[in-house]
Order: sequence, then structure tokens, then C-alpha cells
Amino acid sequence: MVPITVRSLNGTRKEEFAATIRAVAAEVAAAHADEVDRDARFPHEAIDALRETQALSALVPRSLGGGGVPLGAIAQACHDLARGCSATAMVFAMHQIQVGTIVRHLEPGSWFETYLHELQADQRLIASATSEIGTGGDMGRSIAAVTPAREGRFTLEKQAPTVSYGAHSDDILTTLRRSPEAEQSDQVMVLHRTSETELEPAGGWDTIGMRGTCSPGFVLRAEFGPEQILGARFATMMTETIVPLSHILWSHVWLGIATEAFERGRAFVRAAAKRSRGEPVPAAHQLSRVMAELTMFRSEVGGALAEFIRQSDAPGREPLSTLASVLRFNNLKLAASEQAPRVCQAVLECIGIMAYKNDSPYGVGRQLRDSLSARLMVANERLNAIDAGLLMLAKEV
Ligand SMILES: Cc1cc2nc3c(=O)[nH]c(=O)nc-3n(C[C@H](O)[C@H](O)[C@H](O)COP(=O)(O)OP(=O)(O)OC[C@H]3O[C@@H](n4cnc5c(N)ncnc54)[C@H](O)[C@@H]3O)c2cc1C
Repeated sequence: MVPITVRSLNGTRKEEFAATIRAVAAEVAAAHADEVDRDARFPHEAIDALRETQALSALVPRSLGGGGVPLGAIAQACHDLARGCSATAMVFAMHQIQVGTIVRHLEPGSWFETYLHELQADQRLIASATSEIGTGGDMGRSIAAVTPAREGRFTLEKQAPTVSYGAHSDDILTTLRRSPEAEQSDQVMVLHRTSETELEPAGGWDTIGMRGTCSPGFVLRAEFGPEQILGARFATMMTETIVPLSHILWSHVWLGIATEAFERGRAFVRAAAKRSRGEPVPAAHQLSRVMAELTMFRSEVGGALAEFIRQSDAPGREPLSTLASVLRFNNLKLAASEQAPRVCQAVLECIGIMAYKNDSPYGVGRQLRDSLSARLMVANERLNAIDAGLLMLAKEV
């Protein structure tokens, strides 16, 4: 492994953060990506490198001890890491979604403020358990409940079908019903320590792609105090942050995967042009069409990020609660999750057999397989069902 220069993010500029992330992506994440994928193992090296650079607390405001790195730079980091290793990028993105949720919805002076200082000091990695057996990817419903236990404490037991890097995390942010008597839609989020959680394995993670995210199912059992329950209204957290931020950061990961496939196509075409000594390279024409699609994809993802930042800066973040906004960020997810595998597959066809081979420098098999997860990461049909209802009511899209 090529050693990278690790520097504290505190006090550094956005550009320096970007350069550090690109170094981790190219020199650490990419170097281990094939092995991580082949063995379906956690990308320890890259996540450790991110920890060393304090990237896990980058999104935490400086007033709470973090790096104060703007969201745009975090999103770009998701993209750049995905060029090297999709699994590393997705772990980073999912962690930042949990951090973003806490940062944007904690109550001043609460336990979560102390927690964020701890996250910065120890570079803690947060996993999430929103999906549940019985509700699937419907984040707005829970079956497992916050259950009163001894001495004012609580317990939870949740059948979680997919917990990415759960066994490698330091904490898990879990959705639950507010109490055993509550409706399925009356939810809260609880941050529990992995060290205080029993993770009973429930299935493996031998998947087509995103193998390094290590996302098997677990029955989660944990004990926690009342202070570990995020006080904000769950529906507000979901519309203002969890859903749009997930769709934005995931889309940056998928764009990074597609961009890597495209760049492999470009390298192939350049090498072919060198050999052909002036003769036309048919693959270049095909790749030009892929470039047009990638450009649209990039502009959709960039536009959604800018819109989210603009809406977040509005008083009370009010625009984020409109139907048009819900549709906007659902549409981003639908479009990006379909464009990423389409770009990877088109590059495969441009290059031909040299892209199909796993041991070729132009291989795009890993990128194609990883990008197929995008449509399932909250099933697109579920989002289409939500959008179908909303488009009747929303005044504008
Ligand atoms: C790589 C990866 C990592 C993940 N990591 C995590 C994680 O860390 N934590 C977490 O909580 N979740 C995670 N998930 C999400 C989770 O796995 C799934 O969203 C969830 O388990 C639902 O699984 P499901 O595919 O069975 O979808 P379901 O939502 O149960 O859907 C099953 C099928 O029913 C269809 N369907 C469902 N609802 C509707 C509807 N209303 N209308 C029409 N069709 C519908 C779907 O299209 C699909 O075909 C991850 C997913 C992936 C791919």
C-alpha cells in the first residue's frame, strides 16, 4: 500500500479535504477494491485511512467539534471514493447520512451534542437499521418498538434484513415505534452502541455486487437510555433529511461508479487510437453517446445537490416539506439508479471482451455489478408507487 499523507481536517480548507479524499480513493480504496469485492470483505484499509484523516466527522459543524466541511464537498467525496471502490464510497455515504440526520435534528444541549464530540475524537462509524422484515423498504413504518426496561432504561429487538457494515460499526441508528402501544407510523430514531447491541446473524451477504458493504441481516437486541432517542419528529427528519440526503449521496456514489466505467472506456479508446495510426476507432463513436448520457446524469445529480442546499438554507427548511420537493428527490433516485447501470453496460459494449474480463485493465464487471444494487436500495417500484399518488396532488414537479 502506498502511504498517504494524513492531516487533520480541523482548520483545513475544502480543497485540501477534496485532495485528501482523492488520495485515499486512488491509493488505498482502489488498491484493495478487487480483493474487497472478491472476498466480500469490509474495506478496512480505506475506512481506516478515512478515519486517520478525520473524514468521519467532516460533516459535523466546527461548533460541535467537527471538520465543518460543506455538504457539497462530502457529496463530491462520495463520488471520488466510488471511482476507487464502490463499497468504500457507499459505507462513507451511509455514515454521512446518519451524521447529517443527527446534526440537522439534534436538540441543543442534548446528549447528541456530547456524542458528536465523541464521534470526532474516536472517529466512530455509524450504521443504520431502517428496513425491517414485515415492512421492507418502507421507512415510514416500524414494527419493533422502544420497550421500557428496568431503571428508566429501554430495550429494542428488531428483525433487520440488511444492516450494512453492522458488524464493523461503532453505533447503529435504528428506527422504531415510539412505544409498544404506538401505531406503526409513530416512529423515533435511536442511536445505540454496537458494543451494547447483540447482533444475532440472520442470513449472509453473498451478493451480485456491493459485496464489501457487508450487509447481512441481523436480529438486533440492544439496551439504551432515554437520552439516546433523537427528540425530533420522525416524519420531519424523514422529509427534511433522511430521504433527500440519502438519495443525493447515494446518487453521487452511483455517478462515481459510472464515471469510473466511462474512464475505462476512454482509456481503451485512446489505446486503440494509438495503435490504429489515424484509422477511425468505432468504439469512440459509441463512447461519445455514453458521454452524452453521463453528462445528463452528472447534471441531474449536481442540480439536485444545489437544490437541496438551497432548500435547506430557506427559513425553517420549509421547501423540503413540499410535495414538489419529495417528488424532486425521489425522481433523482429513480433516474440515477437507472442511469448508472445503463452507462456501465454501454461501456461494456463499447469495449467488448476486454471489458468483460475481470483481469483486464478495462474491465467494468465490478462497476456494472455494484451499480445494479441502486434500483433495490429502496425498491424503485416502491418509490414509483409513492410518486404515482403525489403527482395527482402536487401543483408542480
Ligand atoms: C447494498 C445495499 C445496502 C443496504 N443497506 C441497508 C442498511 O444498512 N440498512 C437498511 O435499513 N437497509 C439497507 N438496505 C435496504 C434494504 O435492503 C431494502 O430496502 C429492504 O430490505 C427492502 O427489501 P426488498 O428488496 O425486499 O424490498 P421491499 O421494499 O420489501 O420490496 C420487495 C418487492 O416488492 C416490490 N414493492 C414493494 N413495495 C411496493 C409498492 N408499494 N408498489 C409496488 N411494488 C412494491 C418491490 O419492487 C420489490 O420487488 C440496503 C440495500 C442494498 C441494496
